[in-house]
Amino acid sequence: MPPYVPGARGAADRLPPVKLSSNETPFAPLPSVAQAVAAAGEVAHRYPDMFAVELHERIGAFLGLGAESVAVGGGSVAALQHTLQAYTQPGDEVVFAWRSFEAYPILSHIAGATPVPVPLAAGGRHDLDAMVAAITHRTRVVLLCSPNNPTGPALRTDEVDAFMARVPSHVLVVLDEAYVEFVRDPAAVAGLDFLQRHPNALIARTFSKAYGLAGLRVGYVAGDPALIAPVRTCVTPFSVSAPAQAAAIVSLDAQAELAERVEAVVAERGRVADALAGLGWDVPDPQGNFVWLAAGERTGEIAAVLAEREPAVLVRPFAGEGIRVTIGSPEENDALLEALS
Ligand SMILES: *Cc1c(COP(=O)(O)O)cnc(C)c1O
Repeated sequence: MPPYVPGARGAADRLPPVKLSSNETPFAPLPSVAQAVAAAGEVAHRYPDMFAVELHERIGAFLGLGAESVAVGGGSVAALQHTLQAYTQPGDEVVFAWRSFEAYPILSHIAGATPVPVPLAAGGRHDLDAMVAAITHRTRVVLLCSPNNPTGPALRTDEVDAFMARVPSHVLVVLDEAYVEFVRDPAAVAGLDFLQRHPNALIARTFSKAYGLAGLRVGYVAGDPALIAPVRTCVTPFSVSAPAQAAAIVSLDAQAELAERVEAVVAERGRVADALAGLGWDVPDPQGNFVWLAAGERTGEIAAVLAEREPAVLVRPFAGEGIRVTIGSPEENDALLEALS
């Protein structure tokens, strides 16, 4: 099995690094969120609500769906794992684009299924024709990632609809929208609309990125209750802690404050992408909170030079392919641009 490689962290004997390696938000938790987490800590000797009833209800209402349309997990990576466990058995195949989210092959193996990675097309985009061609009688699940981590472009509604028309209806298609809040491409597929038009579809979302709760671990899959029910049976009992449940609920009430933060990241994304273009980089359309540098053979060398800086600029290199860089605060982004120039 391939190991999961987390984003680099700082070294103890160095200045605190510019950490652009894990697609985290540069903003600390909102005061209301920190308060809810502290309050939940006061009763940490008690188990959390095993069924996370209020959280399911609140997410359901937020999506305009019912609570029974939602299955939460310890991060959406866990919700995706439970989905694959629910829908696949040994010999079944899981089709996804590659390179994409590095958890997909790992989660497929954990479920006992066989991962079927399909190379990306030009511009870091899904090759949906090749993905249709990769579907066999063994395929049970297709994972779509929009915007694609680590390359950045979002899938378009028209191409996804054409794709769905060619996917057999017994194949489950999961649209991973971990970065949906950052999408500004008007042609991009929208998960809720996608769910309504395709009965064999689910979406996956997370509180780790735009909501800034990566350290608390909460995410979910959503869709038709009949498709969600098997996922719920596979969820590890009590897997979303009480502080995480409380923080997610408070965050759903703080949409306006969080939207301002997302807007700031989107603005910085534009600035960074323009500056990179000025430095000669051909950056694929960035629709998440990160940009992709197709550094190819020079990936390791460039990442090493960035890490040597003081403070270190930490990024996520994929050997021989390229470097994913998270959009940070303006100062962090300046440090990146200066180092790259
Ligand atoms: C970050 C990410 C997730 C989920 O992260 P969690 O912290 O487990 O919620 C899921 N999919 C993609 C593509 C991601 O980049």
